[in-house]
Amino acid sequence: MTQARNTPASLPTSDSELDRRSIRARAEPMTVTALGDALYEVETDHEVSYLVDLDARRCSCPDYTFRSVRCKHLRRVAIEITEGRTPPPGRLAVECATCGEELFVPEENADRSHYCEDHALEPGAFVRDRETGDRLLVVSVSDRRADRVRIGESAYSVATYPNNRAYDPADPVVGAVYPQSVTMTERGPEPDALRVYSFPRSRLDRVDQSNVLNDLGSH
Ligand SMILES: [Zn+2]
Ligand SMILES: [Zn+2]
Repeated sequence: MTQARNTPASLPTSDSELDRRSIRARAEPMTVTALGDALYEVETDHEVSYLVDLDARRCSCPDYTFRSVRCKHLRRVAIEITEGRTPPPGRLAVECATCGEELFVPEENADRSHYCEDHALEPGAFVRDRETGDRLLVVSVSDRRADRVRIGESAYSVATYPNNRAYDPADPVVGAVYPQSVTMTERGPEPDALRVYSFPRSRLDRVDQSNVLNDLGSH
């Protein structure tokens, strides 16, 4: 125990002490993890973890608890958020389901699959079916879960359909067509030929558009 720990909270804090605390907040090795509900775990170099409540501006460390100072952990959480390394309150860090890149998403959606800008799908994107290897063209991206969307008049949902059961039932549903099946007429794509298939998102891998156009052109 150092002497400082026992200093009564009523003692004024000198400017130079505040400066030192700021410097430590930035320089000391600490790992900040967003837990949700504006709570952050701050793990220090000494393998001690403190809990910071950013809404209440409280910390579980002795500095805050006994001296009521704005401790280095509170400061560090603020720095990490400002510099974009830790999600702000209301968001959590998740990984892109394809490449693992870190993304900050709304807390209430954190348990779904998420994709970075490079791997997100939008209508017009080309994908590869992981089950069959087929190339498909995305025509719609829904925010409904695979276990909530029924396939036609069948008893299956997109999540329980054979070949889809290995994928996350919470996956969003993606509608896609086989580009080879689209018949081009003078009036544009023939609508009768356009049969849309529903997939759980993670069954489809995005593929580079230029590769696909080359493939299709060579047929
Ligand atoms: Zn603290
Ligand atoms: Zn990605």
